[in-house]
Amino acid sequence: MEKDKRIVVPGDFLGTSEEFTLGKGVFDENGNLYASQIGEISISDKRVIDVLPVAGTPPMLKEGDVVIGRIEDIKDTVAVVSIACVKGKETREIAASTQGVIHISNVKSGYVSELQHEFGYLDVVKARVIDAKALRLSTESKDLGVIKAMCMKCKGNLKRKGDVLTCERCKRVETRKISEDYGKGVV
Ligand SMILES: [Zn+2]
Repeated sequence: MEKDKRIVVPGDFLGTSEEFTLGKGVFDENGNLYASQIGEISISDKRVIDVLPVAGTPPMLKEGDVVIGRIEDIKDTVAVVSIACVKGKETREIAASTQGVIHISNVKSGYVSELQHEFGYLDVVKARVIDAKALRLSTESKDLGVIKAMCMKCKGNLKRKGDVLTCERCKRVETRKISEDYGKGVV
C-alpha cells in the first residue's frame, strides 16, 4: 500500500476512474475522482484509491446537524465550506479547519447549472450535514443557504431584494441560493 503524505481537501482532483478504483472518501464525477473529505491519499496494490481521515481528527459532527460556515472555494461541482459552528450547540468545539463540501446536486431542489450562481467566495452559509463521515452538506431547504454575502465587485453589503441580492454601494445584482434567514443576523 502506497501512502501519499499529501493532505487533500474536499473537491481536490485525485485522478481518473481509468487510473483508480473508487474507494472511501472519494467521489466520481464523469470519470474524474475527487476527494469528498479531508485526509491522506492511500492507494492499494489493486489501485483502489481512498482518502483516509488523518489520525487524531475527532469525529464531531452528526448527520442532521445544522452548521454555519464560510464558502472557501468554489469548484465546478462542489463548494468547499469551512465550518465554524453547529447550530444550537455553539459551544461544541469544532477542530480548526474542519471542511465540508456541498455538491452541486445538494444545493437546492431545482436544477443548478453553475455553482457560481448559488454561492460566492466568503459567503456565510447555513447547511445540514447529510454525511458526517465525508462531511457532505446540503442547503436544500428554505431555511438553508446563504445568510450573509458581500459584493464580488466592491465588497459592499448585499441586501436581499426578492429572489436576488443587490449591492448597497454599487447597485450590482447577484444571485445566490438564499436562506430565508438571509440578513437577519440570526442563525
Ligand atoms: Zn458592490
